[in-house]
Amino acid sequence: PVRVRFCPSPTGNPHVGLVRTALFNWAFARHHQGALVFRIEDTDAARDSEESYEQLLQAMRWLGFDWDEGPEVGGPHAPYRQSQRMDVYRDVAAKLLESGHAYKCYCTTEELDERREAARAAGRPSGYDGHCRDLTAEQVDAYEREGREPIVRFRMPDETITFTDLVRGELTFTPDNVPDYGIVRANGAPLYTLVNPVDDALMEITHVLRGEDLLSSTPRQIALYRALAEIGVGNGTTPHFGHLPYVMGEGNKKLSKRDPQSSLNLYRERGFLPEGLLNYLSLLGWSLSADRDVFTVEEMVAAFDIDAVNANPARFDLKKAESINGDHIRLLDVKAFVEACGPWLKAPFAPWAPEAFDQAAFEAIAPHAQTRLTVLSDITDNVDFLFLDTPVEDEASWQKAMKDPAAASALLTTARENLAAADWNAEALKDAVLAAGETHGLKLGKAQAPVRVAVTGRTVGLPLFESLEVLGRERTLARVDATLA
Ligand code: GLU
Repeated sequence: PVRVRFCPSPTGNPHVGLVRTALFNWAFARHHQGALVFRIEDTDAARDSEESYEQLLQAMRWLGFDWDEGPEVGGPHAPYRQSQRMDVYRDVAAKLLESGHAYKCYCTTEELDERREAARAAGRPSGYDGHCRDLTAEQVDAYEREGREPIVRFRMPDETITFTDLVRGELTFTPDNVPDYGIVRANGAPLYTLVNPVDDALMEITHVLRGEDLLSSTPRQIALYRALAEIGVGNGTTPHFGHLPYVMGEGNKKLSKRDPQSSLNLYRERGFLPEGLLNYLSLLGWSLSADRDVFTVEEMVAAFDIDAVNANPARFDLKKAESINGDHIRLLDVKAFVEACGPWLKAPFAPWAPEAFDQAAFEAIAPHAQTRLTVLSDITDNVDFLFLDTPVEDEASWQKAMKDPAAASALLTTARENLAAADWNAEALKDAVLAAGETHGLKLGKAQAPVRVAVTGRTVGLPLFESLEVLGRERTLARVDATLA
């Protein structure tokens, strides 16, 4: 059975790269009716935080992911936080040392730097040069007496490593490219290079799907799996690897964690629906079909396979993400839409007094908003005219619509008369403004602009006559009067 893992380190805020990795693993697991293992790689006490861990969990829940093993659900390989598995790593490191797959390296940082520089200058490979690979007992003694504290280094086999990447095809790494590497710090802390493959082996992971930035660690990890098999750690198999393409942001530069655009919180705050965001992120390296950009996660799961992931870098496009999110907003039923808008209809987003909010009025206008929004946070500006005593005053809108104050007043005066006499429904209100326009030689678009600004404060917004209908006769006329005064 397929077993995949999502194994972030709890550092900083969750970002879209992380979410894409989680999504592809989750979809792959669900498609193959396999298991998703959620593991927390928190072995770096200096960088990991509990807050970040909580955020990760929250993000996974918000996105709608579930996992078969991991935090909160447990599982046969518990615990799933690496900080609670230190004895496991200590034990494996000892076995690797004993079996000769690893050795103690006494080189200091300065010595390493110096030799790296020299190698570079001479045009030789500048990775670790194997200095401590085969120290004699006397040399070890001498280093120990000096008080040097060794790291543990994995001994790479002297052979070329070839594997078939599920996304990129066959890849080959020669020994020159993959020097011996550290697996335990001098202070005894195990490193990612050790704990990640050890847990993948122990947790019987069959497929590792992760970002292309980790490609260079794969040959090392494959060598380590082989060593683990020899010393009897795990079930002796090496997982398949698939490296998801880079995501390029602005200016065709790799989207980085620090890019504001990559923060998951930003998408939550702007009012992305989880399904809209996931739909968009799935397109970063995959597609359902050439002619369909919008689909549900269920459709993705049904169709997803790793063979169809594209090795070329994917381009991150916020506008496209918003437009796809808008399509998902349209897929909601009105009730769900009304509910989804909830957070943006109160503090700190809403500028109106809480008691001024009128649920019935909101529900009446909501269908008109639902056809237009790309992100839910835009709902606030679109409906504030209903709940504020006096509408906002958008300076640019006023200048635009009231450019010619005399003409605007004349139009508004006629429009007011017509509106006051009209039946209070959108169609009649439209006729009223249309007629006022005719009186002054203006087309509907020009005639309705001053009305819209007088009543809502802005030149753009939801369909005007439906808005007036919901706002009501009294308040509409009062706002026109206030403008004319
Ligand atoms: N904890 C690692 C990271 O967040 C996991 C990398 C991997 O998938 O192997 O980068």
